[in-house]
Amino acid sequence: MPELPEIENLARQMSKELHGKRIIRAESPQPKCLNMPPRDFLRIVGKTVKDTTSRGKWLFTRLEPGDYLLLNLGMGGDLLFHKKSDTVPEKYQLRLTFHDDAELTASFYWFGYIHLVSDEELPRHKMTSKLGISPTDPEFTAERLSSMLAGKRGAIKTFLLDQKNIAGIGNVYVQDPLFKARLHPLRKIQTLGEPEIKALHEAICAVLNRSIRLGGLKYEKDLYGRHGRYGPRQFLVAYKTGKPCPKCRTKVVKIKTGSTASYICPRCQRLRAVSPWKRNARK
Ligand SMILES: [Zn+2]
Repeated sequence: MPELPEIENLARQMSKELHGKRIIRAESPQPKCLNMPPRDFLRIVGKTVKDTTSRGKWLFTRLEPGDYLLLNLGMGGDLLFHKKSDTVPEKYQLRLTFHDDAELTASFYWFGYIHLVSDEELPRHKMTSKLGISPTDPEFTAERLSSMLAGKRGAIKTFLLDQKNIAGIGNVYVQDPLFKARLHPLRKIQTLGEPEIKALHEAICAVLNRSIRLGGLKYEKDLYGRHGRYGPRQFLVAYKTGKPCPKCRTKVVKIKTGSTASYICPRCQRLRAVSPWKRNARK
């Protein structure tokens, strides 16, 4: 399932390839994915594509005049940029043809969303308006994370996975930042000390930026159908059950944390009831 690095890469590649192209044809064979009747969706034809940005698992493509195309690959899918003469995927939910014969097709493995939203509607778009801050946003600082956590209760992992807090971190990319910050996934938020929050912030940015640089996950594809280079060799403890911890060589274990699985080093990520930095502990 694509998470932030994969979506961010797609956004950058879409901006590069599609900016300035005019849509001359649109096909959306699966009306269920649309937020309007297929006939209304055709208002996309004639519009010019501007930049694409990402937030969480959503891609926001600006269209001139006056609309945004919002795409969400759901559990996964291919978003492909190709020449019209190239092989078009056999099954697709969206196919856009541009004035120069280039095409963009989206095919979802399971289900995805293709929403056309006007500038005025965007702030009220239910599925994206409540998304939290993106970890790639310059405003996502350690101070910001600290103030977001202030007064919150519950497990730190649950907080990180909630898209209303931080958008784009799923069960793949949550594992290694917790390990790097030496935090047990079930650690209670109210027991975290400032140095731990700072370490967590740094770890989130480091892990995600590294994956973005490597083109995202190995088993996900970019806009050209190429696989990413972020895989098992880059993971620290994620999916490493039985393998030695990169820090202390203790065997990594897989544990159940609520409805999700977690991979931890039981020695580096002890479940503490209080912060080891008591003096700086949060009130
Ligand atoms: Zn360890």
